Amino acid sequence: MYRPWEAIGGLTDAPDGTDPIEVLRWASARFGDRVAMATGFGPEGVVVVDMLSRVVESPQIFYLDTGFLFSETHELRERLGTRYGIEFERVEPELSVDAQASRFGDQLWTREPDRCCSLRKVVPLRRRLRDLDAWITSIRRDQTPSRAASRPVEWDTKFELVKINPLATWSSGDVWSYIQEHDLPYNVLHDSGYPSIGCTNCTRAVQSGEAERAGRWSWTAKVECGLHG
Ligand code: SF4
Repeated sequence: MYRPWEAIGGLTDAPDGTDPIEVLRWASARFGDRVAMATGFGPEGVVVVDMLSRVVESPQIFYLDTGFLFSETHELRERLGTRYGIEFERVEPELSVDAQASRFGDQLWTREPDRCCSLRKVVPLRRRLRDLDAWITSIRRDQTPSRAASRPVEWDTKFELVKINPLATWSSGDVWSYIQEHDLPYNVLHDSGYPSIGCTNCTRAVQSGEAERAGRWSWTAKVECGLHG
């Protein structure tokens, strides 16, 4: 079986602090049309979309449309599409919202959020990644424990392809400084107490002093969709 990781060379040992633009430039040169970015249109995603657009003329960028995204998230996607001339690829689950409810009962996310995330995020992502040798994410190490060991370029053992995390070592402050410095659009919900935004069903505003992702699946111990660990 062909394993691009074994022949990857170059930046596999990219040290912390490597310029994210350099990481993206390398990834584009190394993988060409076999690399794509996945984004949920968070502030980190906005930064990487901007950076990627500086490096690649027509970047491949897709998003997982669970059927439960905030209207504000769709509005941001449209604004970014206009600004950068990008048609973001929509990746959908196999089951519509209604079909999922018929098969698994109403509001699966309240009873089995891991199964719901698997159906609406993980399985569609795995299907999309099958056509790629590498994918680009916007994760930061300090977001969750399972992201703490992320490297700018690494092998994704779960999905079995190269994973590019150009912002792995950035802080939230770094991200927002970049957004302000470059006057980038961002989800308006961030101004209303939503530092991390996922599906409408599973995201609430955080209170002062709560952690960045405290508003995600806040009635459970769950902190990840299953895409990054
Ligand atoms: S975030 Fe909630 S609604 Fe969205 S896929 Fe996961 S469990 Fe389902």
